[in-house]
This record gives sequence, C-alpha cells and structure tokens, in this order.
Amino acid sequence: MRSKPVNTTAITGGRVWEGTNAAPIEDGVVVIEDDRITAVGPRGQTPVPADATLIDAAGATVLPGLCDVHVHLSTNSDHRNPVDNSHFRSTASGTAKTLHALRNAQTALSVGFTSLRVMGLRDAGEPTLRNMIDDGLLLGPRLSVAPWWITMTAGHGDLYYPPNHPRGEWDTADGIDQCRKNVRKQVGAGADFIKVMASGGVMSHGDKPEWPNYTVAELAAIVDEAHSFGLPVAAHAHSLEGITRCLDAGVDSIEHGTFIDEEQLVRMKEAGTYLVPTLAIHDWVLLRGERTGAAPDSIAKMRAVAEQRRTSFARAVQLGVNIAMGTDSSGTLCPFGEHARELELYTELGMTAETALRSATYHAAKLMARNDIGSIEVGKLADILVVEGNPLNDVTALRERKNLRTIIKSGRDISHFESEPNVPPLVLSN
Ligand SMILES: [Zn+2]
Repeated sequence: MRSKPVNTTAITGGRVWEGTNAAPIEDGVVVIEDDRITAVGPRGQTPVPADATLIDAAGATVLPGLCDVHVHLSTNSDHRNPVDNSHFRSTASGTAKTLHALRNAQTALSVGFTSLRVMGLRDAGEPTLRNMIDDGLLLGPRLSVAPWWITMTAGHGDLYYPPNHPRGEWDTADGIDQCRKNVRKQVGAGADFIKVMASGGVMSHGDKPEWPNYTVAELAAIVDEAHSFGLPVAAHAHSLEGITRCLDAGVDSIEHGTFIDEEQLVRMKEAGTYLVPTLAIHDWVLLRGERTGAAPDSIAKMRAVAEQRRTSFARAVQLGVNIAMGTDSSGTLCPFGEHARELELYTELGMTAETALRSATYHAAKLMARNDIGSIEVGKLADILVVEGNPLNDVTALRERKNLRTIIKSGRDISHFESEPNVPPLVLSN
C-alpha cells in the first residue's frame, strides 16, 4: 500500500489538456501527491484532498511539462561572448563544458522544458549531470543522454574537429566491429539512447549535407546492438541516401531529415519512425549567425538547405509522420530558453497547435522510451505547467516567460526559479 504522501498539491479551475487524444477538461482538477499525479478529472467528480496546497488555474491552461528532444547541452551559454560550436568543443575544458551544460539545462527548465534529450559530447559529464539532477542534488530538467555520438572517419561528427585535433579511441568508428564496440562503450558510459551521424552536416566543416555517412551494414550493426540493450537509435541525416540507409537499418528517429522524399516519408509513417525537424536553428543562424559565432561556411550551408527543410517538414505533417519536437539548441547559435520558437514554426507550416504541443509532450516521451512522463495521467511523474491563456489555440503564448504561471517538476513547484538571463531578446525572421 502507498504510504501517506508528504506533500499534496491540487491544481484547480483551469483547462486541463492531458496530452493524450482526449478533449481538454474545462474547469479540471489535477491532484499531485509527492512526485506523482494521483487524480485528474472535472471539478465535482474529482475530490480535492483537504490538506492539499491549492494552485488556482482559473483562466489558464494546464499542460504536461514540455520536452525538447534535440539539444546540445554542453555548449557555450555566455551570449555576450559568442563562439563557434566547433571551436568551443575543441578548446573548452571538460569542467567548463559541464558548467555551461548546467546553465543551459536550468535555462530550459525555467521556461517550462522539464525534459531534454541531449545529443552527446564526450568528457562533458552529461551522464553525471543527469544522475545528480535525478538524485535531487542539482535543479534541472530530466535529461535523456547519449554520452557521445557515433561517427565514421570524415563523417559529420569527425569534421566538427580540425584535422590536427587529436582523435581518441571512440571518436570515430569504421566497419561493423568498431560500430558494435562503440555502442557498447556508450552503454558503459550510461547511455539512454544512441546517436549516430548518418550523413554530412551543416555546421561541420569540409563536408556536404548531401553526403551519406555509413553503409547500411554498419548502421544495421549499430541498431541491432543498441536494440539489444533496449536503447533507441537517433540518426542525424540530411541526405536522401543517408535517410534511406537509416530506414533500411531500422533507426528509431531521423534528426533533421532535410532531403527526404515522398517514398521515404511514407516508409517512416508506416514504420512509426520519428522525425525530429530542428527548424529553429535555421531561423537563428540565418537571422543573426554572423553575430552569434556561426562560421561563414556553416551559414552558407544553412541558407542552402533552409527552404528544403521547411518543405520536407510540411509534407511530413500532411502525411501524418510521427514528429517529436527538437530545436538543435546549441550555444549562442540557437539559444536555450527559446525552445518554444520551434512550436511556432510548426504551426506556421501547417501543424495544428494541439499537434505541435503533442510533439513536445506525448510524442517526445514516446521517442525517449519513457512511459512515466509526457502526459497528465494518473501514475505519471508530475511535470506540469500552468500557462496563461490557451496555447491549444496559439502556441506563441509559450514563448513569453510571464505567461508561465506555474512550473512543476516531479511534483515540486519551481516557478520561482530564474536562471541567470543573458540571452538577447529574440528578433523574428520574416
Ligand atoms: Zn544537432
């Protein structure tokens, strides 16, 4: 039997959107006991415990905590001193990376992003940061971590580093055996999922997004090995050939998906493979990349693919492909704290606000293979937002910190928390 809760909270009077396919409950009640949701329903049918701390949500909408499933956490968080991500990766100390990661994580939490999927950087302490947050030793969003990416020699991940930068044992993996071994090393380092670079990139140097990376046999070995450990595989892939190979190999998500065609979108739809669009980084880099540390070759590549990526996204929405919200938040290029911009871009390109919100809640949790978050349902962890107005009609409400009345993570009200702000005000592109 469950022991008597220490802390009980009841959110009353708001429109409760559970994140499932159910219609919102007008004038709903959510009861939280310690870190879990213990009741959800209409007022009148849902008893409020007498000792509960009450949160009045009248005029507001109650949502599950939001998730961003594609972030680069250990990147420069000092917006007064922008640097290129590649430069930061190859010059900052491990300690600096970890402390910047903590700042970025807390910035995300302070705008209602209670979970992040972290795309990996070795020697940055991200698995330790995840554990310390889970253990209640540091305040932050829950993190799903790939300790390091898997990349081939001259692949996207390798070309983030200058040619003369020393490479370690698990910095590249070539051939089936090394790919399998690299997955096993990730597991040993505490992986929640595996990140593989399966095409050239935009922000790396000397390659083209149109290139595939890895053979189907190598990718299949990575997927087979990861799935043996029960871990999903996220594949960075822009090129059509790279995407096709990933789908042949059975990856769980395509990150970016720029040059995908109709045939591969239909395959994704049929297989339930997730697309993680990462549209926000385009806006940011094209708008102000020169001032925020983007290298000129990266800006040129970004310009070349931006329109294609929006077109591919819009078609994926029309076909009903599973979409999980990811921004590619990284350093000064795509700032932490502005994650909800991605949702606005989705709605501008034809997705309904409700579907966009589901991509950042229900679907994000599914992609992270977590059945304890992503919706407001009895038994789940209480990650809950109370947002002014109705973001189910207009997601722009989520971009304004002042609209976030209440932020609850694991049953704890952390609304008072503000990370040190130094992100310049957002200027929107046309
Ligand atoms: Zn990325």
